[in-house]
Amino acid sequence: MAASSEARLQGQVAVVTGASRGIGRAAAIALAAEGATVIVNYASSSQAADAVVAEITGAGGQAMALQADVGQTDQVDSLVNTVMEKYGRVDVLVNNAGIARDTLLLRMKLEDWQAVIDLNLTGVFLCTRAISKIMLKQRAGRIINITSVVGEMGNPGQANYSAAKAGVIGFTKTVAKELASRGITVNAVAPGFIATDMTADIKAAEEILKLIPLGRYGQPEEVAGLIRFLAADAAAAYITGQVINIDGGMVMA
Ligand code: NAP
Repeated sequence: MAASSEARLQGQVAVVTGASRGIGRAAAIALAAEGATVIVNYASSSQAADAVVAEITGAGGQAMALQADVGQTDQVDSLVNTVMEKYGRVDVLVNNAGIARDTLLLRMKLEDWQAVIDLNLTGVFLCTRAISKIMLKQRAGRIINITSVVGEMGNPGQANYSAAKAGVIGFTKTVAKELASRGITVNAVAPGFIATDMTADIKAAEEILKLIPLGRYGQPEEVAGLIRFLAADAAAAYITGQVINIDGGMVMA
């Protein structure tokens, strides 16, 4: 994907957490197609992350894979230091890394709760805190947090996940207010059911399809298109503090 003639992110650097697979992978490829140099963060799938980088560079774009558990302060600091030493700036942050540890409340172990909160909520805080310092100096930046419809509507078996995702929504609105005067936008993207590894094992697929007015799962590339809009489009400079659903019509506010 050679940078398109639009290449609205030429000369910019984008960090995408959890970009080895699924939505993050598609977002990394979409941002690279806009000319951004993309940091492809991952936790353990180094081969998959290298494949994303190869796909981007093979198409004329620029990317680098960086391993870090973004739920850990020291690893986030080290990721950000590496990016700054190499590129000296960060213009776009996509807080995408996430896990699910689904089980009903009464069976939920503290470690299932904690692991999901640590990555899906605390990870968003750690990356945003570290990278917003850079964006504040640049007086520009776009931060996109991936939440979920279940943070808005709840879902049996996902008390940990829905609490973390609802937390991301409150965090997004607060940080949008704190950073607005410096030209930094902060928005949340709320996907419904998207066809990735995370949803591959869902048993009650037929039941879920009944909840989706458009009658199908979304594709990672569709979510990436929305992320690309928020990161690169001129109109998105005037959008902040919003939760934008991409869910086939599951949630209609
Ligand atoms: P996925 O296919 O399971 O991929 C998860 C990504 O997160 C992988 O790249 C994984 O890296 C990375 N990751 C996991 N733990 C990490 C850690 N501690 N530090 C850094 N990266 C880590 O997930 P997905 O479906 O694309 O979901 C992406 C985001 O969208 C998540 O926040 C998820 O909650 C949200 N979401 C998904 C759906 C859906 O239906 N799929 C719906 C709503 C919201 P490794 O490959 O190295 O493990």
